Amino acid sequence: MRVLSGIQPSGPLHIGNYFGAIRQYVELQRGHDAYYFVADYHALTSVRAADRLRGYVFDVIVDLLALGLDPDVAALFVQSDVPETTELAWLLTTVTPMGWLEKCVSFKDKVQQGIPADHGLFAYPVLQAADILLYDADVVPVGQDQKQHLEVTRDIAERFNNVYGAVFKLPEPYILDAVAVVPGLDGRKMSKSYDNTIEIFDDPKTILKKCKKIVTDSRPVEEPKDPDTDNLFQLFTLFAPADEQAEVARRYRAGGIGYGEVKTRLAEHIAAWFAPARARRAEWAAHPGRVAEVRAAAAARARQAARIVLDRARRACGVG
Ligand code: ATP
Ligand code: MG
Repeated sequence: MRVLSGIQPSGPLHIGNYFGAIRQYVELQRGHDAYYFVADYHALTSVRAADRLRGYVFDVIVDLLALGLDPDVAALFVQSDVPETTELAWLLTTVTPMGWLEKCVSFKDKVQQGIPADHGLFAYPVLQAADILLYDADVVPVGQDQKQHLEVTRDIAERFNNVYGAVFKLPEPYILDAVAVVPGLDGRKMSKSYDNTIEIFDDPKTILKKCKKIVTDSRPVEEPKDPDTDNLFQLFTLFAPADEQAEVARRYRAGGIGYGEVKTRLAEHIAAWFAPARARRAEWAAHPGRVAEVRAAAAARARQAARIVLDRARRACGVG
């Protein structure tokens, strides 16, 4: 079974990326043929400064290594190190109806947030289909926001297969319900582009400052509260052990716990959770030569796999 997924170098990684995706990357790398990539072509739709993009790419590789990706097991590569991706994206574009892209919620959302709609943002799901189909991926671990894009990927693959014969494998999403959408400070999906994140590698002081900003209602300490509809509590359940969750939920319902206390305890849990990864991160960041070696070796492995599928697609549609 081949596992594949990608993450954009569009800013520092946050706890939504961790629970929605990266934790599953780490879990699935054992016992599967695993490919994970830093999606820099995708990030060009939001990052428009070369040095900043290069910095984010390096940071994401180092973050993933620190969080437990094993470069001897998984291929941890950079999307643009495999330029075959863009050629396949073009072949796929030619069989993709406009209507499929027009209905994509993430495109509509970003437009609604006032983010300008370039063709790249519109065609994003086609490039994403190329990312996935290029590696004959069986399983794609992602957050809920990517579910629709995965459906588009499958539709495009089916369409291409119908026109040209059996070229592509149809991938399955792997989404864990409990962590499918991690809420941000403002209650919307936590997103690098929404300025509502708690970063994985924020220092403990910054984590506390951000936790204090989590939006809640204004019920005072004594008043009963509903843990099931509270973002703060939802974040708390990601980090706190079960008995502590039960204690806090009970005090929410009974009244007698303030949001301030929960925010402080959440911040302590987050800092402790990522402390070992923070130490590993410092170690990798101090050795950029080793990071470059990981990147180069993974690119070679990914490119070899990609070439096989791209050649199959080219032959099928009669180019080259
Ligand atoms: P951007 O705002 O630039 O789109 P992002 O924060 O959404 O960035 P991506 O790089 O697009 O991050 O997503 C990487 C992976 O993390 C994807 O699998 C995505 O589904 C997952 N993910 C992102 N945000 C969340 C979230 N809040 N909850 C669960 N999973 C998430
Ligand atoms: Mg996203």
